[in-house]
Parts: sequence; structure tokens; C-alpha cells
Amino acid sequence: MLTVWEQPSAAAVAPRVSDFLCDLPGPVAIHLHGHDRSRCRVLVTLLHGNEPSGLEAVHQWLRSGKQPAVDTVFIIASVAAARTEPLFYFRQLPGKRDLNRCFSPPYTDNEGLLAQAILQHIDQCQPEAVIDIHNTSGSSHGFAVATSDTPAARCLVGLFVDYLIITDLQLGSLMEQPLACPVVTIEAGGALDDAADFVASAGLGRYLMAPHVFAEERPLTLFQHPYRLELLQHSRIDYADHGLRDRDVTIRKDIERYNFAALEAGAALGWLGEEGLTHLQVVAGDCSHPVEEFFQVRDGILSARSRLHLFMATTRADIAASDCLFYFVTEPVPVSES
Ligand SMILES: [Zn+2]
Repeated sequence: MLTVWEQPSAAAVAPRVSDFLCDLPGPVAIHLHGHDRSRCRVLVTLLHGNEPSGLEAVHQWLRSGKQPAVDTVFIIASVAAARTEPLFYFRQLPGKRDLNRCFSPPYTDNEGLLAQAILQHIDQCQPEAVIDIHNTSGSSHGFAVATSDTPAARCLVGLFVDYLIITDLQLGSLMEQPLACPVVTIEAGGALDDAADFVASAGLGRYLMAPHVFAEERPLTLFQHPYRLELLQHSRIDYADHGLRDRDVTIRKDIERYNFAALEAGAALGWLGEEGLTHLQVVAGDCSHPVEEFFQVRDGILSARSRLHLFMATTRADIAASDCLFYFVTEPVPVSES
């Protein structure tokens, strides 16, 4: 399920990341010896096949031939989805489950079994930290997601980005699992943003070179407990600059510019069909909230009732339908003291 590669030499790693991807044996755990062999750090990436920045960073590191501060394990997961043409397009293989929703038991299908194998491998390595690198589907700043705001999580996040989202949403993701060390998810930025590759590789360099990753906490901007705006199953969504007749929900096609920017009350988010808000739902934690609590429709135009901060907004209709339209918080962004 998960092949182990020990200490690949820099010369054995293909110069181009696309060739490196094709050379992988499938899901793989790449083990590197550190200067300090008594500790280990894990980096997971490519849980989603359309999110290449973490793989780019791993590839760059392997090509450099540098030795990390402590033993390091790179786990590269959705290799098959990533190398299905067009490369780095599919989040998961068509018809299969999203791997980062499969880490909670029961483990029955292939994706569940792979998730279980990844968890067992991490467990065996007894790492001091786990970082899971993703990209957002839409263009965005880099940010981190963790399940609780702890000094250890802040130290790890600060190696990569300045924003931290705390969430108790239970989706079956890797970071929700009861591992014996801190786990944070890094969303390096949009899958197509060059800046995201830089965020991932610069952060990876700091993560692997630092003798002690929990030594320094940087001030971060915190977003607590976001909501998700989801589309109901079988509802039809698309993106445009006007309402589309044959869609239940049309979202403005420049929605990505609101990622990490404030969306003012009443500002148009999109257009709804005759059935109004009924095709949308708001979820936080395990609870569903009335959509009307946050959103309104006037003359067919969808807007927020109060000022919102959005993130992970995408214009990929397939991802909006299978995952969510975006995450949001209602609070103004507090700046934390470190
Ligand atoms: Zn992802």
C-alpha cells in the first residue's frame, strides 16, 4: 500500500518534477537520515492530486542532496490521481473518495486502507511533528489549519505562513487524528500560484534545517472555527458575471479575490435560481446552521448579512460541489500576541 524508499541519492531523482512523479512507485514514504538520528519529522503531501506545491518542495529538497537536521520521512500519497492526465488536475481519481476525508475509521475501500497505512507508518516513525502540505484550489495567500491553538502548532505554522485557522470540523482529515505529536496542515496558496511553491519550499527548508522546531513562536493572525458554505447534493452550480438560467447557484467568477479579504454585508456573492437559498447549507463542527443566519437573497442576488472573511473560495465547480464553495468567519480578524 505504501512503498518505502530509503535514502534516495540526489542523482537518482529526475530533474523535472513531472518525471519524478512518474518514477514514484505509487504512494511512497521516502526516508532520509538526519544529523540527529534520535528524532524524526514527517512531511505528508499530495493527499490531493491537484495540489503540487508540496511535491515540488520535496523534489527540490531531494535534488539538493542536503541532509536534514533530524531523520525525515516524506509521505507522497495520491500519486495515481496526480499523474492521471492532465497532470495535477484530479483531486482524487474520478469516482473515488477524497483521501483527506478517509483518515477516520472504518477503513474499507482502497482510499481508507491507504489512509490507514499512512497513519500506521507515521505511528511507527514516532515523529516529533507532522506537516501536511496542500494547495487551495483558488488563488490565495498561504495559511495553516490546525485543530487547536497550541504553542507547538504556532511554532510549526510560523515556519511556513502567517495565518492560522483553528477548526473543529470533523471531515476525516489527517490532522484530526489522535497522533502522538502536533500536526498542522499548510495550505501553501493556490495550486496555480507561483508564490505557493515558494511558500512550500522555503517552509520545508526551515522545517528540515531547524535543530529545534518548537524553539520559536511567531505572531500569527488567527481565524477561529470557520463555517463552510456547501452546495446540496444534485444542486447545480457555476461561475459567471451574471445569473445563469439553468443553474441553482451562480457565484461571481472573481470570488477568489475575496480570499482573505473582507466581504462587506450586502455585497453580491452571486445569483440564485427560483428556489433561492434552499440549495445551500452552512456547516460548522458537526452542526448545520440555517443559511439565512449568514446569507440573504434579494431580487435573486445572493449576499452576506454581515461582514465576512472568506477563504478557500474556488471557481472550480466540481470542487465547490464535492467539497464546499468556501469557508468563512464572521468575526473581524484578531491579531494574536505571541
Ligand atoms: Zn488539499
